[in-house]
Amino acid sequence: MNIQENFCPKCGGPTTNEGICDKCLAESIDWIVAEQRVVCTFCPTCGSMKQGNTWSDATPNRELLAEELALGALKVHPDVENLHFTVETYEPSPNRTKCIIHAEGTLYGIPVQETREVLVVWKKEQCDRCSRLSGGYYEGVIQVRATDRTPDIHERSRVESIAYSVEDGLQESGERLSFISRIDDIKDGVDVVISSHHIGDLITKQITNELGGKTTRHPKLIGEREGKKLYRITYLVRLPRYRRGDVIEIKNKYYEVRSVESGTIKVFDLQEGIMNVVREDDSYRIIGNVRDAEYAAVSFIDGDMAGILDPKTFMPITIPAYPWLHLSEGMDVRVMEDRENERIFPVG
Ligand SMILES: [Zn+2]
Ligand SMILES: [Zn+2]
Repeated sequence: MNIQENFCPKCGGPTTNEGICDKCLAESIDWIVAEQRVVCTFCPTCGSMKQGNTWSDATPNRELLAEELALGALKVHPDVENLHFTVETYEPSPNRTKCIIHAEGTLYGIPVQETREVLVVWKKEQCDRCSRLSGGYYEGVIQVRATDRTPDIHERSRVESIAYSVEDGLQESGERLSFISRIDDIKDGVDVVISSHHIGDLITKQITNELGGKTTRHPKLIGEREGKKLYRITYLVRLPRYRRGDVIEIKNKYYEVRSVESGTIKVFDLQEGIMNVVREDDSYRIIGNVRDAEYAAVSFIDGDMAGILDPKTFMPITIPAYPWLHLSEGMDVRVMEDRENERIFPVG
């Protein structure tokens, strides 16, 4: 076999190529090109980054971000194989990061290496979210109120936690413009000021899921933006008169409220020890909430009565020892006081 042998016109060495040899070819190609400057716009308040016209929450590590941007500013010849980069960074000034990129690879079987520099310029600009936040922007208010009473401390703090956890979830999923502008704890209840209708829908749904009650929406036209009508919505959340754990009196019997659904209340019958359903009716007397029940030690059992010390006065008294309680001497039982009837009764 006679292999056709050529000579490289550049270096004169032997080659199987038609023109110049692989080594000369690799040397003649400017195989890596870098933009010298990359401008990165970020929000000085929250650190978000702008790409094109879109803001997003950026990685908190500026050095890593600079490396990423510098590598993104490179163009590498498609014939380069086994490509590998190492990047050194330093900050010549507070709003500049210089990246020195060492690139290695093989081109037509010849090892090649080059060094390039990219300057990342950090530009400050207030992001869409922060400018809305600082401008007091809002698209709705959630007013949490209760029926014939004011929301209690437990409900107020649940409303606040629900609101913030919905906000966290939306922010993590990238819905930047859904946030809480303000939460006001006022005498009548809690007002949550929100930046989007979506966050308002989610928060109100979760509040009524957890605390019961109903939401009504009252939209108000406030103007137009880019041909779209803009509404501000007042969400009125009306918590039910009865709360989970409330002990109510119906026809001289006590029941613990387990949940309030539309029109009905699921209750636990504190005499019989069974679940029951009663009509939602605002006329039941509320004795208190089982959260505020007190413990008392059973000193003796006598038939269907149990002896305890009144937790307030420490006077010996008796309470009914209902079978479902399975009371025995020495054990603790939770009791509540019905002040109107001057009666102390067990709640379990
Ligand atoms: Zn050559
Ligand atoms: Zn920001």
